[in-house]
This record gives sequence, C-alpha cells and structure tokens, in this order.
Amino acid sequence: MEVVFSSSQELSPAAKIKIVGGSSSFASWAGLAAESLFATLFPSDCRLCGTPLIKVSRLPVCEDCLLAMRPIAGGVCSSCGEGLVSPNAFSEDHNEPRCGLCRRLAPPFAKAAAYGSYDGGLRELIHLLKYEHVRTASNVLGRMLAEVIAALKPSFGDAALVVVPVPLHPSKMRQRGFNQAELIARAALKLKPAGDQLACNGSVLERRRDTQSQTGLSNHQRRENIRGAFAVALPREIEGREVLLVDDVFTTGTTVSECARILRRAGATRVWVATVARTLKTNAQHAVPNQDEEARLALAMAAHG
Ligand SMILES: [Zn+2]
Ligand SMILES: [Zn+2]
Repeated sequence: MEVVFSSSQELSPAAKIKIVGGSSSFASWAGLAAESLFATLFPSDCRLCGTPLIKVSRLPVCEDCLLAMRPIAGGVCSSCGEGLVSPNAFSEDHNEPRCGLCRRLAPPFAKAAAYGSYDGGLRELIHLLKYEHVRTASNVLGRMLAEVIAALKPSFGDAALVVVPVPLHPSKMRQRGFNQAELIARAALKLKPAGDQLACNGSVLERRRDTQSQTGLSNHQRRENIRGAFAVALPREIEGREVLLVDDVFTTGTTVSECARILRRAGATRVWVATVARTLKTNAQHAVPNQDEEARLALAMAAHG
C-alpha cells in the first residue's frame, strides 16, 4: 500500500508499473485492495482544490494546498498584528511599529499575533474544521498556532500562563460538537511551544449570549453588540496571572478585545492573544516562497500525523 501510493516519489514510472502490473499477483491484488480502501477512506479529492489525493493522509487536503498556506510577512502592528503599509507607521519606533488604531487607543490585550492571512486556503481549512467538522484539520492549524505562541514566548513573564480558548455559546457547542478554538489550542500545546509554561483551561470563560454576525456593523456597534456576551466563570484560575487567549480567527478584534477586557477586570495581569489567522486590511502580506521551508514542510507533515 505504501509503495503504491508514494511510488511517484520513490520509484521511477517504470519501476512503478513493474510492481503494480508485473509478475507478482500479490502486488497487483494489494494495489487494488489499497486503492479501494483509499477510495473508501477518501471518496473525494483534495477538499480545497479538487486534485486527486495521491498520499494516504488523515486530512483530505493535498500537499500543494498546505504548502501554499504561508505565514504573514512584512510589517505588522506590534500590538494588534494588523498589516502595515504606511512608512509613517514605522517612524515612531522602528522596533515596535503600531497601526493608527493602536496608537490612538491601546488595546486591552498586551499583544495579538496571528500565523497567516484569513483568506485563500487557510480560510478554507478553518471552514473545513468549523463547518464541515473535519477534525484532523486541527493538527495543522495547531502547528501554525504553536509557531505564533513560540514567537510570543520571549515576552511572557516567568510564571505559568493560563491558556483560555474563546468559548462558544452552549447552543452552538451542542450543534458543532466541539469548540474549534480549544481543539486548536490543545493541538498546539502538544508541541510544547513554550515548554511546560502553558496549561489550557476551557472553562475559564463562558459565552452567555450568542452574538449574531458582526459584519456590517460599525466599530461602536460591534462593541455594543458584544458587551455582556462573555463572562469569567473561574476568576480564581486567572487572578494575578498572565493569560494566553486563543481563537481561530482575529477578524475585527472585537471578540478578543472584549474577552481580554473582562479577563483583566477579573484580575489577569496581562492577556496575550494568539490566533491562527487574521483579517488583514492591507495586501501583499504573504511570505516570499522558500522562506522558512522547514516550517512549511512540518505543516505538511502534520497533516499525516
Ligand atoms: Zn489541494
Ligand atoms: Zn494595531
């Protein structure tokens, strides 16, 4: 089975034909059996681009699609992670450039960072997890989140941090069966991006109100809409401690800002925010090809594990 599906990389086409259609009847039987097993496991092609999958994988997404999901490159706001294009943004402080919004009003979190731009394949991969319930996507997304956490780690204090996934409303939780933010957070923590400094607690926050879509609302309306939607259920877990808030996507920042605000009001000293993806208002924020090749290959590997 292994030979048949990975043969394009390890054997010449001639050698492949010899194994599949050659003298060994066992090999051809095994090939057919493997093929039907493969078709049973993955009746569809790559769920993102439609090309037939040639490798056995627990995630129905091809390697090309996974390798195309690149980290954000270029200047980003050191507070909220928004892309920066204006050279003015850098003039204030070269090491800690901030966007216009953060310069006007400091956000309630210490820093928010994301792995990639919320578009293209990464957006589709997140949708595959959230809306099509392909749970194996959380391994790849968790690896991306682990990279974000590792980059934040030097700023953490010395004490242990509480990792808090943004919760779902109980009705949505029942409907989906899992909280994608918690799945991704737990997958990331398995990779020990900050040694043993992090422990996940999915019960610290609770969502009391299921807020409707925030699209089409002004900043002010979004803040009003989300006020009171979350509550700190276990204040003793976070009092006097630093918190790492985790979500799948940072869109307008209204959700994580509200969570950070109530966490701090309940006694958290600092709140860090790590998300897999982020909506960028500016374009051209993708890494150049071949940058961090090893990290990208590791992502592709995560799809198989
Ligand atoms: Zn694909
Ligand atoms: Zn900012």
